[in-house]
Amino acid sequence: MLIVMDTLATASQVQVVCAEITAMGLTPHPMPGAQRTAIGITGNKSAVDASRLEQMPGVARVIQVTAPYKLVSREFHEQDTLVDVSGIKVGGDRFVIMAGPCAVESAEQIDSIAASLRESGAHILRGGAFKPRTSPYSFQGLGESGLRLLADAGKRYNFPVVTEAIDNETLDLVAHYADLVQIGARNMQNYSLLRHAGRCGKPVLLKRGMAATLEELLMAAEYIVNEGNPNVILCERGVRTFADHTRNTLDLSAIPFVQRTSHLPIIADPSHGTGRRDKVIPLSCASVAVGADGLMVEVHPHPDSALSDGPQSLFPEQFRDLVKRVSAIAGVVGRHLN
Ligand code: PEP
Ligand code: MN
Repeated sequence: MLIVMDTLATASQVQVVCAEITAMGLTPHPMPGAQRTAIGITGNKSAVDASRLEQMPGVARVIQVTAPYKLVSREFHEQDTLVDVSGIKVGGDRFVIMAGPCAVESAEQIDSIAASLRESGAHILRGGAFKPRTSPYSFQGLGESGLRLLADAGKRYNFPVVTEAIDNETLDLVAHYADLVQIGARNMQNYSLLRHAGRCGKPVLLKRGMAATLEELLMAAEYIVNEGNPNVILCERGVRTFADHTRNTLDLSAIPFVQRTSHLPIIADPSHGTGRRDKVIPLSCASVAVGADGLMVEVHPHPDSALSDGPQSLFPEQFRDLVKRVSAIAGVVGRHLN
């Protein structure tokens, strides 16, 4: 439920309504806006008696929120949320590109790719240190030394960094080094990890599970925001379908749907979304055209010898080309890269 206060409502009237909501055993979420304050209500297991609240001084109207997600819904919060990743704002006019290798492999590898990405115009450096691999025999990431190498390269080339946390044991360590903590597709419904991410003090990049509906994605985001962390960026990274010409099917229709339903920014990951290097540039162009707030792209100095996701990783010169093309399309849809 959402209480919309009158444009002339006073701060003390807002306080009294919040106190009444608390007395009803519910949680008020006051949201001051440009014109008026709205107060979201969570914590109800069944319908709330609106009449009591409707009659209180300063209340303009009471709206029933129909979506199961509350804090992340547009009904609760009309304006777009801008997530500030150490100075790079995601969700505004700027189209934000996160790029880097699937995994941090060595000091030389991350340094060389960061230097090249700085030249090409990326905004945020990515690189996994804890990798969720299908096989226990595959490269699992460098762990804390990988985090340190990523953070050092970020500092050297003036990039905020994003990296994945795969479990509760290492999330605080990841949050210590990262500017943006990634929760991967495989963990989208790991609810204790989502709650922990909501308390980690850093913005969170939440990737869509490979078999998750958009309602499930938004409910997962609700877990993070409900812990008091409103800084969530969503990511469409492809879902499993019958198609076998790609590894996953990048669901571009998710982007306008989420933007209509939620105030959170959403980016696209055409690398995991297709699994094929030759599809990454076309689907990056499509993502910006459809209104995505940014991209996550895998780029490696030597994709053919990458320890993970080589077949979908771009060569540095391909990434340079991607930025040029995406930048041209961004201009058409009212966005810019700089
Ligand atoms: C990744 O970004 O490296 C990754 C593992 O992504 P996803 O969780 O989308 O598979
Ligand atoms: Mn990868």
